[in-house]
Amino acid sequence: MFCPKCGAQNSDTASFCVSCGAPLKPSAQPIGDTYSSTPPPQNRPASGAPPKNWMTEAILATVFGFLFSCLGGIFGIVAIVSASNVNKRFQQGDIDGAAKAASQAKTWTIVAAVITVIGFIITFFVYGVASLAAIMGG
Ligand SMILES: [Zn+2]
Repeated sequence: MFCPKCGAQNSDTASFCVSCGAPLKPSAQPIGDTYSSTPPPQNRPASGAPPKNWMTEAILATVFGFLFSCLGGIFGIVAIVSASNVNKRFQQGDIDGAAKAASQAKTWTIVAAVITVIGFIITFFVYGVASLAAIMGG
């Protein structure tokens, strides 16, 4: 290698220049290291598919929610509103907002589904007890 300071030729393994004594930095640093572990860009443009918006599940939860328990249907409507925000925010380039709306839609869909199932069981139980009482009472 050549000394960067005075230009004198030195051995490739030399740590200091034989002519001027300047430190010679070996240029044998691995180049790949600093570039291979590049993190993915955070602010990607809105392209590709939006996150799962849970719209289908939210509508189903609302329909069955109103069939079996009014409360489940109300939470289903909240889920539909959140689900409709997913694509809207994604189209505005708000990836984080879309992901947040998707997670809200998922949560409300599950809440609506659970309440609907509970409502269904209670309804079934009440009708069952009422029928049984009717049978027993003759
Ligand atoms: Zn030198």
